[in-house]
Amino acid sequence: LIQLFIPLNALGFVYREIRQALVNVERLFGLLNEPPLVTDAEDAEPLEVRKGEVRFENVHFAYQAARPILHGVSFEIPAGHKVAVVGASGAGKSTLARLLFRFFDVDDGRIVIDGQDIRSVTQDSLREAIGVVPQDTVLFNDTLYRNLAYGRPGATEEEVHRAAKLAHLEQFIESLPDGYQTPVGERGLKLSGGEKQRVAIARVFLKNPPILILDEATSSLDTVSEQVILEALREVSEQRTTLVIAHRLSTVQDADTILVMADGRIVERGDHQQLLAVDGRYAELWNRQQKSGEAESSPDQED
Ligand code: ADP
Ligand code: MG
Repeated sequence: LIQLFIPLNALGFVYREIRQALVNVERLFGLLNEPPLVTDAEDAEPLEVRKGEVRFENVHFAYQAARPILHGVSFEIPAGHKVAVVGASGAGKSTLARLLFRFFDVDDGRIVIDGQDIRSVTQDSLREAIGVVPQDTVLFNDTLYRNLAYGRPGATEEEVHRAAKLAHLEQFIESLPDGYQTPVGERGLKLSGGEKQRVAIARVFLKNPPILILDEATSSLDTVSEQVILEALREVSEQRTTLVIAHRLSTVQDADTILVMADGRIVERGDHQQLLAVDGRYAELWNRQQKSGEAESSPDQED
């Protein structure tokens, strides 16, 4: 039993590290010199993204065999559409994102992108196709410019500036005496949660992936940056197949489909209006938040 637990803890540690490193996770594996959690099949082919349709088919998953987390989850994100996942903390929302990014392999069922089981394609090509805006973006101890350019190594200065502009960072950068050359990260300028999130959004604009995972930050943002970020998020997800782990009901409202999760199952699905009409869990969540005047705050207070 002890032998079983040590590697799991190690994975937990590695996982936290990876999650913070966002876009180019494979590089972090390289940096840490850790064996990858999943490996390429011997005959793995590069993922061929044609439209960018994502399907979860009867997905079962457990981090530890004794404790199943997902119990047969099925849903589809048609190419270019946006699906939001809501539900209490621990329901399994972020697990969906981790499985799509293939941090772990499903135990049963499958995840398919444009007809290709993600276990049959190379991890490099899979992660090339998926952009991530994580809950908490970690900045490297380097200049703001290099932190942005990390989105796509080899990007030109013009491309980096354009991405910063698209992510609504231009004004902020212009306000800094050293502009793009400002050192950031732990030893440099500390950016606010909203600014860091916009750095992550700029990286996605640079990377330009057909598929996007947004794990929304829960920390309360001030109203001004909230509006700017929502706009940036809307813009970055346009034309991309998007899975949003939603904390703000304001992002949920414009999703094509909302999945309500409870204990590893989808218990309701529909768009905002449909779910209000059903008058179930989603409606309850919505009404509760309206009543407490916290429509913008998190349905999932814990993470
Ligand atoms: P949500 O995002 O809905 O809050 P998660 O998908 O993060 O929930 O987690 C679902 C369940 O899986 C939780 O009970 C959580 O404790 C568990 N879990 C998450 N990550 C791990 C892990 N690395 N190892 C073991 N259990 C985990
Ligand atoms: Mg989560």
